[in-house]
Amino acid sequence: MGEWKAKTKAVHDGVRRSQYNEVSEAIFLTQGFVYDSAEQAEARFIETGPDEFIYARYGNPTVRMFEERLASIEGTGDGFAVASGMAAVNVTLMAAAQPGMRIVAARALFGSCLYILEWLAKFGAEVVYVDGTSEAEWRAALTGGADLVFLETISNPTLEVIDIALVAGLAHAAGALLVVDNTFSTPVGASAAARGADVVIYSTTKHIDGGGRGLGGVVLGSEDFIRGTFEPYAKHTGAALSPFNAWMHLKGLDTLDLRVRAMAESAAQIADALAGHAALGRMIYPGRPDHPQHAVAARQMDHGGTMLALDLAGGKDAAFRFLNALQIPVISNNLGDAKSIVTHPATTTHQRLPDEQKQLLGITPGLVRFSVGLEDAGDLVADIRAALAGL
Ligand SMILES: *Cc1c(COP(=O)(O)O)cnc(C)c1O
Repeated sequence: MGEWKAKTKAVHDGVRRSQYNEVSEAIFLTQGFVYDSAEQAEARFIETGPDEFIYARYGNPTVRMFEERLASIEGTGDGFAVASGMAAVNVTLMAAAQPGMRIVAARALFGSCLYILEWLAKFGAEVVYVDGTSEAEWRAALTGGADLVFLETISNPTLEVIDIALVAGLAHAAGALLVVDNTFSTPVGASAAARGADVVIYSTTKHIDGGGRGLGGVVLGSEDFIRGTFEPYAKHTGAALSPFNAWMHLKGLDTLDLRVRAMAESAAQIADALAGHAALGRMIYPGRPDHPQHAVAARQMDHGGTMLALDLAGGKDAAFRFLNALQIPVISNNLGDAKSIVTHPATTTHQRLPDEQKQLLGITPGLVRFSVGLEDAGDLVADIRAALAGL
């Protein structure tokens, strides 16, 4: 089905129908599967075929539909869905871990990703952090060779964009596996695998759910990596995705392309309307030419993203007053939701980082992360303008 576009794949690929030939994907709420005979059970434990299941910790038909559909959209050989985005990162890193391994990572990472890398360092992994937007730093860190390279394509919360193709070239020359958390880019219009990532991770809790209903995560890669490296560790350690959440996220894929495009279009409109506003020290949006990595974003994605970052000139006090004055967006910490969501990273998601680390990452007291939802863009602009005017 390789010739279909992502939009078509997102609606049809991976479907498995029961004997009733249902149209909508069924939820197989079962942890186990009945064998016709003792011989069949024995055979299945020796080798499990593509449409055969043993236990939901290893695989489930609804989860399998979701995995196959995402692998097809991303363009990888296979995929494995797990209970959350963090389970996807953790199981990937643990499954790939080797004694004395050398990891090179972009420094602007989600706090929990940093936690896992620090955990690996306790067991002897050498972890080197670089400025992900600096080719020179990647080159310097990778000349000595590496086992694994980890990065988030668009960093949280300052929306730096990393050139996947550039890092893939350097990582592969160094002998490293390139693992990319592509959650902020979404799987539509921004395939990381096509640009050279070996393993692509999504927190499906975000845009793929799209309504803030439940957690999920997926790891996409070659059949070799998924079945040879990832699955043996994953199936014994229990981060399995529930079939119900797999079904919710599967149905989320039906409308993902439409939603992401609409959100990105609104984000671009809001960014243009706010550029140069006197209350803002900085307005960060990868889709605008004034973004430092605009050229990379334009090459790598066919939209500018659904996230904005606003740095309020008046610091924390102004940021809090702005958040409290907004009528439409909710104050929370999810993203990719139909509802616009505003977050103050310095006091919530990134609270635990030491001040010098926050400074290095650009997490200033005035910084507000804005996840643009599906509301009317004009309503959002008017709401933001009114909240800024009150400062
Ligand atoms: C949210 C997020 C995660 C973690 O995903 P959960 O589903 O919350 O566990 C990892 N990486 C990025 C970039 C995220 O935005």
